[in-house]
Amino acid sequence: MSKDDASNRMVSGEGRPEDDGALDRALRPQSLDDLIGQDKVRDNLRTMIHAARARGEALDHILIYGPPGLGKTTLSHIVGNEMGSAVRVTSGPAIERAGDLAAILTNLHANDILFIDEIHRLPVAVEEYIYPAMEDFKIDFTLDSGMHAKVITYHLKPFTLIGATTRAGLLTGALRSRFGLTHHLQFYSEADLLAILRRAADKLAMQSTSPQRAIDDKSLKEIAQRSRGTPRVTLRLLRRVRDFAQVRAKSKVDHRVIEDALALEGVDELGLDNLDRSYLRTIANVYQGGPVGLEAIAATLGEDSLTLEDVVEPYLLQIGFLARTRQGRRLTAKAAEHLNLEWRPSESETLFAAE
Ligand code: ADP
Repeated sequence: MSKDDASNRMVSGEGRPEDDGALDRALRPQSLDDLIGQDKVRDNLRTMIHAARARGEALDHILIYGPPGLGKTTLSHIVGNEMGSAVRVTSGPAIERAGDLAAILTNLHANDILFIDEIHRLPVAVEEYIYPAMEDFKIDFTLDSGMHAKVITYHLKPFTLIGATTRAGLLTGALRSRFGLTHHLQFYSEADLLAILRRAADKLAMQSTSPQRAIDDKSLKEIAQRSRGTPRVTLRLLRRVRDFAQVRAKSKVDHRVIEDALALEGVDELGLDNLDRSYLRTIANVYQGGPVGLEAIAATLGEDSLTLEDVVEPYLLQIGFLARTRQGRRLTAKAAEHLNLEWRPSESETLFAAE
């Protein structure tokens, strides 16, 4: 698999096997006080948790949406810790049949948290079972079929469902309306990413196998700038830079080491990689800067359009390299400048076309 492939990118917010080490677990914030950034979500959760604990009740069901790697799973563990409840983690595609869901739900203890990642991929037949479970803490089993069919209602202990999705728009209205609270996670500011990096760098230096903290704030800032507003990416880049420095530069990290380490992965000073650049160049060179439909770009690149929409476009939109117009995607002058393209759209044209 090439490293330009959408599923194997250094700067993808989606998890990779290497992200799951003991170090990452050690770096995960454990409490709301530990959590960096997402101030609105944190304040809101703090109030809710306080109230639910005071009443001795399960927390309302929560829907969290936002691009991968921004902390949806982390938040659900934090909520579990703050509530003093166990967290059971699963995902939409893993629950294939209603029976799978019933097995999970009947094993929950009072006030436990059930975290369902990618909840928009829950099969329709399963989704119907989840409504009464969320609303009235009960599920109906049908035993036998035909004339002898018998419905047995099983009462569940009160629990909290935390659903995570990269796209709230893909959820049915019926499911969405059953969540008491919806939180939208935003990309992190550079200052927040820097704070995450400082803490991680300190922890890395504490590991017996790691060198002394050989990375200064200026270097951490350079890594933050390349992290696409995403904690998972920032931690991955830090690890990569550290490994590179250990092998090539006696563990000393400076501007040069960061440039070289990330250039090996095709990551530029804004955190864009080969896939981002191919995407932008396709619009510029094949479609004269747009507007062009996503399907056409995906077909030219040989990538899946949903993947492009989930993992490439959000950040390009965020940094103003891309405009989504009614007629399709359009490149901005800023993007053309970054890529040194001859072609330049007029800014007024881009603004006029933007939704
Ligand atoms: P998601 O579920 O949205 O894909 P995760 O919760 O798995 O994201 O987070 C990805 C990584 O980023 C984890 O290693 C986690 O420790 C780290 N992380 C996420 N949010 C924060 C945060 N606010 N502060 C520090 N680290 C964070």
